[in-house]
Amino acid sequence: MLVSFITLLRKARHDGAAPEAPKPVSYPPNKAAEEYPDVWQNMAYIKSREEYDVMYQRSIKDPNGFWRDIAVKEYAWQTEPHEHHYTSNFDVRKGKVFSRWFRGGKTNMCYNCLDRHVEAGHGGERAFIFEGNSPGVQAEATYAEALSEVNRLANWLKAQGVRRGDFVALYMPMILELPYAMLACARIGAVHAVVFGGFSAEALAGRIEGCKAKVLITCSATMRGAKPVNLKAIADEGCEHAKAKGHEVPKVLVYHNPECGKREDVNMVAGRDEFWQDAVPHQSPQCPVEWVDAEHPLFLLYTSGSTGKPKGVVHATGGFMVFVGQTTKYVFAVHPGDVFWCTADCGWVTGHSYVTYGPLLQRATSLVFEGVPTYPTPSRCWEVVDKWQVKQFYTAPTLIRSLMRFGDDYVARCDRSSLRILGSVGEPINPEAWRWYRDVVGSGKCCVCDTWFQTETGGHMIVNLPSAWTEKPGSASLPFFGVQPCLCDEKGREVPGVAEGTLCIKTSWPGAIRGVFGDQKRFEETYFKPFPGHYFSGDGARRDEDGYYWITGRVDDVINVSGHRIGTAEVESALVAHKHVAESAVVGYNHPIKGQGIWAFVTLKEGEEYSDTLKKELITTVRTEIGPFAAPDVIHWAPGLPKTRSGKIMRRILRKIAANKLDELGDTSTLADPAVVQVLIDMRGK
Ligand code: ATP
Ligand code: MG
Repeated sequence: MLVSFITLLRKARHDGAAPEAPKPVSYPPNKAAEEYPDVWQNMAYIKSREEYDVMYQRSIKDPNGFWRDIAVKEYAWQTEPHEHHYTSNFDVRKGKVFSRWFRGGKTNMCYNCLDRHVEAGHGGERAFIFEGNSPGVQAEATYAEALSEVNRLANWLKAQGVRRGDFVALYMPMILELPYAMLACARIGAVHAVVFGGFSAEALAGRIEGCKAKVLITCSATMRGAKPVNLKAIADEGCEHAKAKGHEVPKVLVYHNPECGKREDVNMVAGRDEFWQDAVPHQSPQCPVEWVDAEHPLFLLYTSGSTGKPKGVVHATGGFMVFVGQTTKYVFAVHPGDVFWCTADCGWVTGHSYVTYGPLLQRATSLVFEGVPTYPTPSRCWEVVDKWQVKQFYTAPTLIRSLMRFGDDYVARCDRSSLRILGSVGEPINPEAWRWYRDVVGSGKCCVCDTWFQTETGGHMIVNLPSAWTEKPGSASLPFFGVQPCLCDEKGREVPGVAEGTLCIKTSWPGAIRGVFGDQKRFEETYFKPFPGHYFSGDGARRDEDGYYWITGRVDDVINVSGHRIGTAEVESALVAHKHVAESAVVGYNHPIKGQGIWAFVTLKEGEEYSDTLKKELITTVRTEIGPFAAPDVIHWAPGLPKTRSGKIMRRILRKIAANKLDELGDTSTLADPAVVQVLIDMRGK
């Protein structure tokens, strides 16, 4: 049963009109940390809350010294930053808002990821493992091999006239050539713009045209499970659309995926297209590093589009490098040689930070997986874990819930004893899914690291460090070093202590967004106008008596029922706690008496049947878990939910379905499966 802090808080609040301080709740100690002290003594960099507190306090009180020590000791600079400019703040007082980290420093991300390790004698260690869509298709690359391949591609890019500051669009599946291409751009100071390989031609065109990409790197095709996807055909169409919009891509490099058909069958445009296999191997495996200013843009990447039109986020080299390297190190307790598997696609920030850059900065081995987690069976993830002895596994709640649906047997048949850390990112993780992750996937021996961050933040902001303190299922817990979160009320005042409010960040951090591409106004209005002086995250959160943060959902999604403000995450977690429920999404709708009512979309586990009795049971579950005020007014059976292509539930679409405003769905370009919408419409009232 879901007996949690949330429950107590909700009950307390229901009894009185105003939110009250929650009663202290005792949590079971962290089993993993207690029962396997040796493991964590050797692995964790921070071993206690006290140790964290000391380091965190220093990061806030002496940010310049804190980041200088790290930057100088753990990263390579061609020119070190100025003595007093290792830190920065958002300057919001006058003129343009900006933050500038490691001023005066010159560095190179690719050098830090690859050359640095090769020069130190680690060229023979594994940088990447590739696991293909079909079991048995695999590859490995050492740091030296990766460096040669990256250099060859960098030379080819230079031969096409790509220079520092030029944009290169990448539209690729999850094969090693994708991180190689990112690193090759970084090496020559070009700015990569990765477009997730699941996006349509139209979305690709918008992004190519937006940044006037000089080159597009793509792939002939890929397999997603049993389904072939002809990427090249979509890329061609994307280039056509981009041309119609006013930008013709001069050069397209096509990696021929030998697993998906013959070369002769790939449509190639004469004069524009070239096969990677023809063009790149002839290039020299040596390529000088282009040293760039710390603030030089490293990449452009769009947000997931959960709450509206995606924002083109720009990140800077130095700050992103230091922040991502440090979060990888502390949060995942990564040591050189660890096999680290982040299941995110490089089309999202998680893939940028924790597939390509973070693991390499820490000299770990990053596992790149082309396939889907349920192919050929729902055991695939755990088979891959066993095969490569994965130590850190990092994924999203949506995947955890979908694997839960298939039951425990698919997990139990694999060994999984190499696993130490289980990470979660993307959405609040329901306590029920959290427990399954820790107890079934991790056999109770792993630390679960819930990581709250955004495309805009570059790396983890609120996170639990493994074994340093007690985990609470559903809470990402405490801020990472240098991160100063605060909660604000509707009037923009900071609320102290145990409180609930809008999650803002008070000062800049190294991995902070540097701008919205080509739109300084949107940058300032979206992030700095709502709560002047602070970075506005768009998420709601609560802080408990231990200072832990609990993300309650998007501020835009908060439901107000008879004056009670209800976060979507809590009601959804209560529903998911029911044994027949796999997934749920709740939204508010106009209610004649209550102001807003709660409309709950519910997906059942495999083999469970819809019934009115079950509807009643679900409503009762929420009444008892949270309180009568949070009981859903409508249960809407959902065979599937509308999600972004990065796997997040798009509640704004569900709100329109609940309100029956189907002509107002808004920007649906990032919707993964548009067919779901019609299915939900058909299920209305059933
Ligand atoms: P858009 O900004 O275009 O609406 P998006 O916010 O979904 O899209 P991302 O940057 O990919 O785009 O996602 C960041 C958001 O994901 C956060 O603001 C938060 O709502 C959610 N999120 C990420 N990690 C967590 C987590 N560990 N716990 C709770 N929520 C999380
Ligand atoms: Mg967002």
